[in-house]
Amino acid sequence: MNVENYRESLKDKKRIVIKIGSSSLIHEETGELDLYKLEKLVRALKDLKNRGKDVILVSSGAIAVGKSSLNLRGRKLTLTEKEACAALGQAQLMTIYQKLFAEYGQLSAQVLMTKYTILDDLSRYNARNTLEELLKLNVIPVVNENDTVSTYEIEFGDNDRLSALVCALIKADLLILLSDIDGLYTDDPNINSDAKMISVVEKIDKKMYHMSKSTSTSDVGTGGMTAKITAAEISTHSGADMVIANGANPDVIEAITTGKEIGTLFLADEKEAFEITNYLKD
Ligand code: GLU
Repeated sequence: MNVENYRESLKDKKRIVIKIGSSSLIHEETGELDLYKLEKLVRALKDLKNRGKDVILVSSGAIAVGKSSLNLRGRKLTLTEKEACAALGQAQLMTIYQKLFAEYGQLSAQVLMTKYTILDDLSRYNARNTLEELLKLNVIPVVNENDTVSTYEIEFGDNDRLSALVCALIKADLLILLSDIDGLYTDDPNINSDAKMISVVEKIDKKMYHMSKSTSTSDVGTGGMTAKITAAEISTHSGADMVIANGANPDVIEAITTGKEIGTLFLADEKEAFEITNYLKD
């Protein structure tokens, strides 16, 4: 395989999962939603749909939006406060997504999951069928963890992992993780000015986990670089390519899916014995 020209092949992906992190949706200074960015995101996703792709959005932000609405910003939340924030924020977030998608005549639907949805055979089967049906009906599913009921024992932990599991569940061929970093670096770019961004990762090895240590810069959201490498492992082993890119400008979605060299691309590395339940946190 010619790695140089591989980016071109991203044009032909049919089923694409896009994950956006809380830090990419929220104004850092105020904790309020960045509506301008949300609009651009929705337009980019609708355009992907118009290009004939199956599009699934995994969006964080429920807790952050609820926290801001309840004026709890700057507070360390208890578990029940978090769950209450999510109950409020998820509905608020979904209202905005549905409104923005509706401006383009696009239907969007909410799908909330917990770890048990993937672990339990029947729930997993149901979740897959529902997602497949929504795609068949030309709806864009908007997925999040069901934070309102996800106590520690049943939580995925972060939406990077959740998006990779969704990617594996519905056999998507591309996962795009939009975050507050440009890609995977050889070292923490905030500390080491010689750190270089890696354009393509052909195989994930232990060294990657070492490189990924403590490179998350955001204080909203939960997934650092290590979570992204785990997501890369899940998605590539399930047979999908994965790209990590900066979500500061949602136009990167168009750039990535038309073959431009943006962010870090992890190449599909399908494992015959792939078992989705093996990739859940204990
Ligand atoms: N599910 C959480 C939320 O919507 C975010 C988890 C994450 O940041 O990865 O608030």
